[in-house]
Amino acid sequence: MFLFIYGKVEEYHTKAKLISSPVGMVITCRFKHKPMNNTVLPNKLENIFKRLFSCYGRQHWWPGETPFEVMAGAILTQNTAWENASRAVGNLKNCSALNPRALQQMSSDNLALLIRPSGYFNTKALKLKSLVDWLGQTCGFNLSLLEALSTDHIRHSLLSVHGIGPETADSILLYALGRPVFVIDAYTRRIISRIGITTGGDDSYDDYQRLFMANLEPDAVLYNEYHALLVKHAKISCKKQPDCKSCCITDICYSCSGRI
Ligand code: SF4
Repeated sequence: MFLFIYGKVEEYHTKAKLISSPVGMVITCRFKHKPMNNTVLPNKLENIFKRLFSCYGRQHWWPGETPFEVMAGAILTQNTAWENASRAVGNLKNCSALNPRALQQMSSDNLALLIRPSGYFNTKALKLKSLVDWLGQTCGFNLSLLEALSTDHIRHSLLSVHGIGPETADSILLYALGRPVFVIDAYTRRIISRIGITTGGDDSYDDYQRLFMANLEPDAVLYNEYHALLVKHAKISCKKQPDCKSCCITDICYSCSGRI
């Protein structure tokens, strides 16, 4: 039985191998086994992924029907739960306004009213306007033209847009544009640090991102699923107050011994 069916399954089969798991067969991802500093880290990252996937299954991220919807969602979910951002997305959809041209023509005040459920709505209206301006200048609202641009170029350019920081830029790159960029968020930092993996740096955003990207193959499908699984785990077990009794990776977690 295959539990892990990607959209790109045929391509993926050529690069994947099958492994046994307690719940059947899963397709493993392409893990790199040439770490920069040691041989333990890639195995540990692979093990975490396998265990979380066995526990939670595929997460089907990011919920969005178009790349622009994902981009807008990445801004709307800043500093709020996805449920609130989703209500704002729904309002835009109901007004047929979830496209760059419609948002460009809409006043900031009207936009703010529509996205009110996402919180910080005045600020986020300006951020969405800035994103739309960037799309107009960069690709004339034809998002397929972004395919010709390098990931580094797009990332650097996105980071110059008002209201777009590294996490939002990388979410756009990975989930809207399918680029192999690992997204780091507070959940990822919490889980990785509790497990006992150190970044070898100052634990900056870039340090955490390097930790994953230096030890995993550059694979957008893997990065998509891995990040989504970390978020799931942070919500189910590794919460602010961790529920280690419900955790499926206690045996590989440095922090768990005193909590169970
Ligand atoms: S054992 Fe506890 S601290 Fe470690 S990952 Fe699981 S929930 Fe988090």
